Amino acid sequence: MPTLAEIMRRAHRCGIAVPAFNVPNLAMLEPIVCAAIDEDVFVLIETARLEWIKFESRGPAEVAAEFGRWRSCDHVRLHLDHVPAVDEDGQRVDYLPIFRRAIELGYDSVMIDASRLPLDENIEATREVVKIADAANIPVEAELGAVWGHEAGPATPYEELFSSGLGFTDPAQARRFVEETGCDWLSVAVGNIHGAVAAGLRDKKKVEARLNLERLDELCRVTGIPLVLHGGSGIRQDCLLEAMKHGIAKINIATEIRQPFEKALEETESLVKAQQTVYDRTVWMLRDHLQIRGTARLVAPAG
Ligand SMILES: [Zn+2]
Repeated sequence: MPTLAEIMRRAHRCGIAVPAFNVPNLAMLEPIVCAAIDEDVFVLIETARLEWIKFESRGPAEVAAEFGRWRSCDHVRLHLDHVPAVDEDGQRVDYLPIFRRAIELGYDSVMIDASRLPLDENIEATREVVKIADAANIPVEAELGAVWGHEAGPATPYEELFSSGLGFTDPAQARRFVEETGCDWLSVAVGNIHGAVAAGLRDKKKVEARLNLERLDELCRVTGIPLVLHGGSGIRQDCLLEAMKHGIAKINIATEIRQPFEKALEETESLVKAQQTVYDRTVWMLRDHLQIRGTARLVAPAG
């Protein structure tokens, strides 16, 4: 059975991204796994710290337990998404105990997000996490640049962000960051934005984002490692398909699945119907939107 590090390197080589689905509610996990198996696509289930603080995923242990009920190693593994050094509300987070616990719980990979810190401190924090993850032989994702959207404060209009390249990952910094931290995968900012998570904004439609593919190419070339696209919901389809050919080996998807789940739950008051909505939306994402149906064997060959 290949390790997740091997699977991601393969995906990177083949130009096929691994979709990583956030589960802000535990009931979303089963239909996502079923859709991945039915469409024969390798995916990740992931949970971020803000999902057990601001949503209903409850905690890394609860997500791992739910994952254990539906586990299917050929099609799905478990990733710890965004554990921030400084969170979306500007608070410092005591992150090392969270990583140690996730490793004990059997997470296949983890993400340290110290992107709100200055470069040197981001490098320092990421190195610390790489050290403990290396000892457990699991990969570490880090973030460099600013993937906006989680912050509660007033947002800069998207067109202004995109044209100015404000917060875009800098290639020279990325090269240094990867060399000095030894991180396995890098989350980059090239026009992608997160869905809003602040109360009162989280059910609003996301703006359609585009990607600066030249910048992405350059980042791919200077880092040489699998790159990660956060804020995968609401990105123009042609940009997403191109991104896979330009170094993006993992695409995080949260809003695209969460909003239909919440809406269905509210309208029908039926968890079964809300789960069916998650299943349908995941199938659409894998088959129609990302067009990667039947690729599980390519990226995660058995044996
Ligand atoms: Zn993210």
